[in-house]
Amino acid sequence: MNIQNASENFTVLVIDDDNIVIDMMQLLFEDECQVISANNAADGIETALATNPDLILLDVRMPEMDGYEACKVLQDNPLTASIPVVFLTAKIEVYDEMHGLELGAIDYITKPIVPEIVKARVRNHLQQKRQRDLLAIQSTTDSLTGIANRRRLDEFLEIEWRRAVRNESTISLIMIDIDYFKNFNDTYGHTEGDKCLKMVATEILKNTRRPSDLVARYGGEEFCVVLPETASGPAADLGERIRADIEALNIANKGAVGSDVVTIAAGVATASPGTNDRLKKILDEADRQLYLAKDAGRNRVFTSEI
Ligand code: GH3
Ligand code: MG
Ligand code: MG
Repeated sequence: MNIQNASENFTVLVIDDDNIVIDMMQLLFEDECQVISANNAADGIETALATNPDLILLDVRMPEMDGYEACKVLQDNPLTASIPVVFLTAKIEVYDEMHGLELGAIDYITKPIVPEIVKARVRNHLQQKRQRDLLAIQSTTDSLTGIANRRRLDEFLEIEWRRAVRNESTISLIMIDIDYFKNFNDTYGHTEGDKCLKMVATEILKNTRRPSDLVARYGGEEFCVVLPETASGPAADLGERIRADIEALNIANKGAVGSDVVTIAAGVATASPGTNDRLKKILDEADRQLYLAKDAGRNRVFTSEI
């Protein structure tokens, strides 16, 4: 993502019971970002949840729920906790800076508003926010293929496993490994090998459509698909579709045995975990099925339920 271009898409949410302040912010930022507004805290929180803005300018003194309280609600909700909050406070009011910082605000601006100061500060905070977002994306993305990396996979699996225990639901996992990939590299070189990895990752992603699913690079030429709330049958079907589609890509692999194109082997494991079950169980089982698929001649999908 280009930071310069991305800055054009910033959204700032102004929460203030004074419409003059809202109009002023609208005017001040109309050229550089989208300004949305709410004139009470409750509506502001709802708007923040619905629009996920890049920054919130939050008035301290408001009737009913005040800015401090609203800030606490925003910070306590994981969906809004990472949105930076800047308090707006009138000079004549006693603003408790310590209290604001404790609540997680990153800055405060005193009214009457000095346009250039507000602009400069907000710009700084927006740039920092964008950098943080980029870092967060980078730290969970595999740089070669653009899909989730191992770290993201581990986090995601942990969360989904716990959810499956809690909801008494079923979770499936597909472990995929490219066949004879060492020979592919030896024959065509590492650059072609990298291209092949990207094509395989794209093909897996194409087949995995549900937003709740995750496709990740597990390591080297191994990939993992996590399928929450998915039974064994549909998971095996998906594994088979992925296998067939990768074979149909028709990527030559002279180094393969029993095929002249790139193929994959996959192990599918499905679990309906109880409280005493460990996550390792499903990983081990998918790995075991993958090993059996390799052993049986590769280019095939093996499935089991635990
Ligand atoms: P099998 O059919 O049993 O899976 O054999 P294989 O050759 O695919 O498995 P092996 O584990 O022996 O070799 C994996 C190869 O994957 C070796 C390694 O160089 C290659 N590899 C791992 N990561 C990358 C990568 O990022 N880029 C490229 N080009 N190759 C990679
Ligand atoms: Mg391997
Ligand atoms: Mg392999």
